Amino acid sequence: MNAPQNPLRPFESLEFDDLFVRSLPADPHTHIVSRQAPNAAYSFVTPTPVAAPRLIAWSDPLGALLGIAQPAAAGSAAEVLGGSRVLPGMKTYAARYGGHQFGHWAGQLGDGRAITLGEILDTHGQRQELQLKGAGSTPYSRHADGRAVLRSSVREFLCSEAMHHLGVPSTRALSLVATGEDVVRDMFYDGHPETEPGAVVCRVAPSFVRFGNFEIFAAENEAANLRALADWVIRQHYPELGEPGPHAYADWFAEICRRTGVMIAHWMRVGFVHGVMNTDNMSILGLTIDYGPYGWLEGFDLAWTPNTTDAQGRRYCYGQQPQIAHWNLTRLAGALYDLIADEEALRAGLESYRISFEEHWAAMLADKLGIRLDTETNAEPDTLLSDLFTLLQETETDMTIFFRRLADVPTDADVSAAARLAPLREAFYDAAALDDQPGRALAAWLNRYAKRVSADGEPSDARRARMQAANPKYVLRNWIAQLAIDDAAQGDSAKIQRLLRVLERPYDEQPEAADLFARRPEWARHRAGCSALSCSS
Ligand code: AMP
Ligand code: MG
Repeated sequence: MNAPQNPLRPFESLEFDDLFVRSLPADPHTHIVSRQAPNAAYSFVTPTPVAAPRLIAWSDPLGALLGIAQPAAAGSAAEVLGGSRVLPGMKTYAARYGGHQFGHWAGQLGDGRAITLGEILDTHGQRQELQLKGAGSTPYSRHADGRAVLRSSVREFLCSEAMHHLGVPSTRALSLVATGEDVVRDMFYDGHPETEPGAVVCRVAPSFVRFGNFEIFAAENEAANLRALADWVIRQHYPELGEPGPHAYADWFAEICRRTGVMIAHWMRVGFVHGVMNTDNMSILGLTIDYGPYGWLEGFDLAWTPNTTDAQGRRYCYGQQPQIAHWNLTRLAGALYDLIADEEALRAGLESYRISFEEHWAAMLADKLGIRLDTETNAEPDTLLSDLFTLLQETETDMTIFFRRLADVPTDADVSAAARLAPLREAFYDAAALDDQPGRALAAWLNRYAKRVSADGEPSDARRARMQAANPKYVLRNWIAQLAIDDAAQGDSAKIQRLLRVLERPYDEQPEAADLFARRPEWARHRAGCSALSCSS
């Protein structure tokens, strides 16, 4: 065999660039005390060293994209990835941003525990920013400690990679390092603080700039900074729009809206609930960013949110995500108003969000169901879908299993109700319901569905392939992540490695992973981390 053309480099040999730093204004102060940082896009800050950094997980696919070999569990690379060592050429910083949290302007927030190491070129020549999350205090830490717990770091690490392999635009995660230090958290903010192991994730994205980076400049009347940041984002990340200027700004906003529409449609397709869609958690590149108290639908439920902090208002529940993204884009439009100064253009941009989301979501739903959008014979396009949603909601039905198994439902005309229902049985939390009224209602719906499929006339192999490519078999179920976390807390990362591997191919049948294609067990229904998550991380 020939030697690989591009052998992987050791992490320590990476050449770091700092284009963001060179292009945008720095905070002139360097003291790490929580404070306002007027006129700055970022503050220089070095990660705070940790007691015993140990690499416990590594993404091979991302390592390959970046051209980096997996480092040893302990040693200089693990020290860098845990925040204990800085390599020559790194100009480490925390970014300044603001944000609307739960509908209200929250002022300056900023990277309170994320520290960027620098930018590198990946094997495709694309610039990628490497950022440590949980790397210690910054001027933006406010009242918090700058650290992250192992449980939330495992969740961010696994979910970033799972989302990428599902085809959902996302920031990524290269490594997970246990710090060997404890962190104190009051998980449910109820006066019961406990110590938990700490960890640091190395996140990777072309940029971590958020809507909130623009909002803080607009709110503080820092017009020159607003323009400089917009110009930088356009030149670096939207070069196809040409040189920054009034037209490019308007096109850029419309493109952010379009990309956000694509991202949200994907979230809805795979059953992902972000949980904290504040504007500081919205990427300017249309990537899923900041994995906190996110969750995956198990029972299909439009009103479900994993975030206990949001349990009352359900602002960020599954079914609200499309509207919230629009609301957030409207805040971004407000922040960019002085730059674009054309209300019509901003309105048109927001409209392109609506169109983008609706077109993508409709196409994805058609793929999920294996129906065509454009058939003339289709007399009831809308009610077929909305009636299904009602049925799924009325009887607790596992979203992933239902859609994955839908491709196995026989659609010939003369099939019995029992035969139509059979492939779907395991999606139901209460199997008895299928022998009762809910089963009859679903069988009636399946008859309509079968007629629709026959009328479409698509060859069944093609249809099945289309459905399997839209309906993942393996997602990062909340309780499955929790089992991996439980073991990791005991020093055993085997489940993390296994999940990483299975979730690399979420649409493939993987018989050895049958236990991961399963309804949530009863013990997980009310266990913290399995169905309810707090922002405490
Ligand atoms: P989030 O809702 O997790 O995206 O965080 C909102 C803000 O709180 C961001 O500015 C975070 O950097 C900051 N933050 C969250 N947790 C911590 C922490 N443990 N230490 C410092 N800042 C934090
Ligand atoms: Mg955040």
